[in-house]
Order: sequence, then structure tokens, then C-alpha cells
Amino acid sequence: MANSKKHIVIVGGGFAGINFVRSLGSNDAYQVTLVDINNYNFFPPLIYQVATAFIDSSNISSPFRKMFKKHKNFAFHLGKLLQINSDDNTIETDTGLLHYDYLVLAVGTETNYFGMDNVKKNAFPMKNITDALAIRNKILVNLEEYIQRVDDPHRDAYLNIVVAGGGPSGVEISGMIAELSERIVRKEYPELAGLTPKIHLVDAAPVLLGPMSKVAQQEAKEVLEKLGVEITLNVAVKDYQNDLVVLSDGKEILTKTLIWTSGVIARELPGLPAEKFGRGRRVLVDQFNTVQGYNNIFAIGDICLQTTDAGFPNGHPQLAQVAMQQGTLLAKNIVAKDRQGSLKPFSYWDKGSMAVIARYKAVADLPKFSFKGWFAWLTWLLIHLIPIASFRNKWKLLGNWIWSFYSANSGLRLIIRSERKRDAKEVRTNIEG
Ligand SMILES: Cc1cc2nc3c(=O)[nH]c(=O)nc-3n(C[C@H](O)[C@H](O)[C@H](O)COP(=O)(O)OP(=O)(O)OC[C@H]3O[C@@H](n4cnc5c(N)ncnc54)[C@H](O)[C@@H]3O)c2cc1C
Repeated sequence: MANSKKHIVIVGGGFAGINFVRSLGSNDAYQVTLVDINNYNFFPPLIYQVATAFIDSSNISSPFRKMFKKHKNFAFHLGKLLQINSDDNTIETDTGLLHYDYLVLAVGTETNYFGMDNVKKNAFPMKNITDALAIRNKILVNLEEYIQRVDDPHRDAYLNIVVAGGGPSGVEISGMIAELSERIVRKEYPELAGLTPKIHLVDAAPVLLGPMSKVAQQEAKEVLEKLGVEITLNVAVKDYQNDLVVLSDGKEILTKTLIWTSGVIARELPGLPAEKFGRGRRVLVDQFNTVQGYNNIFAIGDICLQTTDAGFPNGHPQLAQVAMQQGTLLAKNIVAKDRQGSLKPFSYWDKGSMAVIARYKAVADLPKFSFKGWFAWLTWLLIHLIPIASFRNKWKLLGNWIWSFYSANSGLRLIIRSERKRDAKEVRTNIEG
């Protein structure tokens, strides 16, 4: 690396990280190293479609090296951030030490189990591609096991699915599993004689899609109920062990599958002092996304809490658009700072929010109005195609969608597992774990 170049280490290649790298481009003044635990970027809003075998995981993921092959100053480092040493401007990863001039933190959030150890141990989170594939395997294995365990008195546990969390992710996966059951399970699993998985959607709030409009909340409830989803509101999941989900009203649901979409918490940033963190363990930043008290450490996206934006005095919602806009602006501000130019404070442009409830049914809240139904669904499809990484992936996804929505049968229902562990018990642990 040429000594004259400043070394920017960016940790996390999600929405915030890749938009930072894109915005910086091949700027000769910098050498950029992107650190990530995976070698690919993926698109979380469509994880639920991977989990329900509707689209392939490769449709929504792209390797970093491919994405940035034209960026002359780009390097990728596969590794996990372990420690930030601000005294000597280094970070430790599980695969080596890196020195930085500027450090950009963009590691996002992890699943929050609110201190419930049994839920953490036994539930299925839905945060990334690995989680989605585990859910896909689990749903498919459950069907096979239900068919085989004719004499098991607890057989229903294989057909019951509990989804915890009535936000967009919980609503979307519930709707999609219901569609999968209706359109595919009925046709391809004759041994079930018309039985299909029973989906229970549970949330502690009084409505589904809490932050969205009343139109959206009502539509979600109506559509899901029509699809046969049993919705339980004002009730929280309290425990999950021995195949029993225990609810705060005392009710218990027998199930092999609790899908946990109930909350997130910022990932830990070891090495930064405790007073640098605010609500949800988010690191406190100023209006330029500089971590408070430092001049060469920045944080963007879900990981940071910025209360300087007039419209968002309690911090921004943890959404893709916030992360993308912060990543883009931070790169420009770093360049401006080094050129003694003026910096622009971050101000979030809220373009609205959307959720898909079922095939041809979605809800959309734009800043000035809300709409629902077929048009909202089509708008959702188009809007979600735009940020998908790589031109090829956009076409692959579009093709996959056209086929899957038209045929209602994607043909992706593969249980993929290691051949090495053929012992039945081990296989079960392996694919369910
Ligand atoms: C299932 C799901 C659905 C969602 N749907 C929507 C939606 O419809 N609309 C919307 O606006 N938002 C949605 N979100 C939220 C949105 O995905 C986040 O707001 C956004 O991803 C935040 O971007 P980020 O770059 O801050 O973090 P992320 O996108 O989470 O990226 C973090 C990156 O850091 C890497 N990383 C993590 N830990 C480490 C470590 N220790 N060392 C190195 N690398 C690490 C990860 O591999 C990842 O690449 C959804 C989230 C989920 C989970």
C-alpha cells in the first residue's frame, strides 16, 4: 500500500458498508479494506422468501470481490471484528490485525432474545442467509417427520409453526408459509390428507405492523386471517423448551418450530468505552456520523444512534434507507474533510415503508398517503429490485419471481444437509441447529 494513501477500514458490508464503498469509488487518496464475517453482501428484506423456498439465496446475495472488482483501491478481508484499539489505530479480527487511518463501523444488529436463554437456544432467528436456509430445512424436514411419525402422540408439534413478532418480517414470513402450505403442501404431500402447517403469529403489541398506518395494520390482519394464520396479540412469548412455546397469558403451543423475528440489538463493539453507547446498545454519533469523542472513528447504519436530525430526536429507525443514505454521505464527508471542505450533516429522507402480506397483496405507507392491494404489491416488487446487488442478480430475481408467482411453485424445496452425518439423531440436530 502506498504510504501517501489513507487507509480506511470499513467493518460490515451491509447496506451502510457497501454504499460507503460505492460512494467513495476508486478515489486515489484512499486504500479501502472491507472486513466482513461473510464474503458476500445480501438483501435482508427478502430473507423470508429464501426461508420459504420461494427464491434462491443466490438471487439476493453477491460476493464483495465481484461487486467491487473495478474499484482500484479496494481490498476484502474475511474476518470477524474482535477488538477496537483506538490508542494505536488498529482493529483485531479473528483472522489478523489491521491498521487504519479511518475506521468505519457498520456491523448492524443481531437478534435480541430479551434475556430468554431457552428461546435463544431453541428458536430460529431470521437475520441472514444461514438463518433462512435453516428455517427452510426445518419446515421441509418437519413435513417428512410428521408423515413418518404416525404413532407419535406429539406429532402435531411438526405441523405447528409459531412466529414471534408482528412486524414486517413476522407478517411476511407468516403469509408466505401460509401460501406455501395452501399451494404446495396440499398438492405434494398426499399423506397429509389435506392437513397443512398451522401458523400462529404472536405479538406483545395490540396491532400487527406497529409503526405502519392503520390501513396497513388492518389489511395485514384481514389477509393473514383469511389465509388461516392464527393471530394472537397483546401476548408475549415467555419461554420455549421441550417443544413448548409458553405465552405470557399462560397458554402453551406445542411446536418444533419457533421463528423469532421479535427484536434486534446492536452488535457489540469491544474496545469502545461503555459511555459511548445509547439505547439498544447503539453507538452514539454526531451529525456527521463520527463516534462521540473520536475524530477518526465513524459508525453508520443500524449500529449507530444519531439524535441530531431534527425530524428524529430519538434516533432513526433501523431501516435500509437510513443505512444507505448514511453510508453514501459519510464517504463524501470524509473526502470533504480531507480537502478542508465543508461537511454536510446527515438528514434522513424518509421514502416510506412497505410490507408484503401475501401473493398480490401488500401495503405501502408513503410520506403523504397509504395504499394496499395489487398495486402496492407491484410497487413493492419494483422497489425491491432496484437495490439488489449486481445487474445479473436483478434479472435472476425477476425471472425467479415471474416463474414463482405465476406457477406458485418454485421447485426450490431441497433439504440440503451434510452426507457425513448419516446417524439419524445427528442429522436431525445438524439440520435443525
Ligand atoms: C429479515 C429482515 C427484513 C428486513 N426488511 C426490511 C425492509 O423491508 N425494509 C427496510 O428498510 N429494512 C429492513 N430490514 C432492516 C435492514 O435490513 C437494516 O436496517 C439494514 O440491513 C441495516 O444496514 P447495516 O449496513 O447497518 O447493517 P447490516 O445490513 O446488518 O450489515 C451488517 C454487516 O456487518 C457484518 N458483520 C456483522 N458482525 C460483524 C463482525 N463482528 N465483524 C465483521 N463483520 C460483521 C454482517 O455480515 C453484515 O454484512 C430488515 C432486516 C431483516 C433482518
